Amino acid sequence: MLFLDPFGATDAGKVRRNNEDSYLVGDGKDETLFAIADGIGGFEAGEVASRIAIEALKELEPGAPFDAAIGEANRRILTFGRGDDRLSGMGTTVVAVRFGGTRERPVIEVAHVGDSRAYLLRGGSLRPLTEDHSLVAELVRSGELTRDQAADHPQKNLITRALGAEDEVDVDTAVLPVEAGDRILLCSDGLSDMVSEARISELLAESRGEPEPTARRLISEALDAGGTDNVTVIVVDLKEQASPEEPSGETHEMPAVGQSEGGAATRRSSARGRKGSESRRAQASRRKRKRGGFGRLVRGLAVVLVIIAALTPAYLWGSSRYFMGVDGTGEVVAYRGLPYAPLGIELNVVWRETDVQLSQVKTPYHSPIENHRLYTRAEIEPVLQDLGK
Ligand code: MN
Repeated sequence: MLFLDPFGATDAGKVRRNNEDSYLVGDGKDETLFAIADGIGGFEAGEVASRIAIEALKELEPGAPFDAAIGEANRRILTFGRGDDRLSGMGTTVVAVRFGGTRERPVIEVAHVGDSRAYLLRGGSLRPLTEDHSLVAELVRSGELTRDQAADHPQKNLITRALGAEDEVDVDTAVLPVEAGDRILLCSDGLSDMVSEARISELLAESRGEPEPTARRLISEALDAGGTDNVTVIVVDLKEQASPEEPSGETHEMPAVGQSEGGAATRRSSARGRKGSESRRAQASRRKRKRGGFGRLVRGLAVVLVIIAALTPAYLWGSSRYFMGVDGTGEVVAYRGLPYAPLGIELNVVWRETDVQLSQVKTPYHSPIENHRLYTRAEIEPVLQDLGK
């Protein structure tokens, strides 16, 4: 008999006072559901957004569609944000997996929006189950940046999709077969930005079958590497029980959810409503065909679309974003927009001058200025007030 042995933990990190990550470890209506949400927004808005997302996922019934729950989370975040200045503009990523299929053919379903990730460790090798929805990831896919360049890119945390950004959210989902011995990792970017995939893979392989020490070890490595962001990790081991005796500790037996589509088809669907499985399958095969014959063209097109979307404020996650930089005279300037110029097109305008020279800036603000850290308006205003020594 197969059963799940999960463990999740979070840490605010060494720099941030708040922890804007939220997570779910099998304590929702679906006991095989695990999720991480990484909130975005000033003050406590990010925390609110990620918590709303996790609460919505807790209500997801076994077998009910992922996109409906994530779409519902998106609506709640928008509704909540509209009534409150401090919360408007808040958003969150989400990555979720749940186990299902049949005892003979167990599967996991993965859903994600943004740059929180899922990985599968099978044998000794680590396989990413998600592709970041981030500008940098799009540029890697189009060949304009290498993976190494992306890892060091100052705008690597700029995501192109989030809950709370628009009325509808596109959720990427995938279904793939799993087997006893498989290890699933979910993490926020507080881990993946701090610890290389090679190292993550090593740590996952070291203490197999023991999710708690593994999760704690991953977090402590992220903290040792700087811990500049909140870090959340969930490790789920899929284990085989030899005799039908009681599984040890807090484990979840896998239900046989009859939703397997088999294979590892990647689906992308809109949260507007549930599409028939027929059309999903058609979508999946369409996608596959594109990737085969016209992969390069489609990837190129995707980048163009991202840039067009970026130029259209209504579609721009980040249109109400602010960041700091330094002008030619060494004065700190606040910009509205994105600190990025794809194809040379600037996506920002000077919003406010500060009369503060970089040399007069308090130490804690050096890194946000250098890295063009993104703020909401509510977030940046007190920072500008507090900037100078
Ligand atoms: Mn984060």
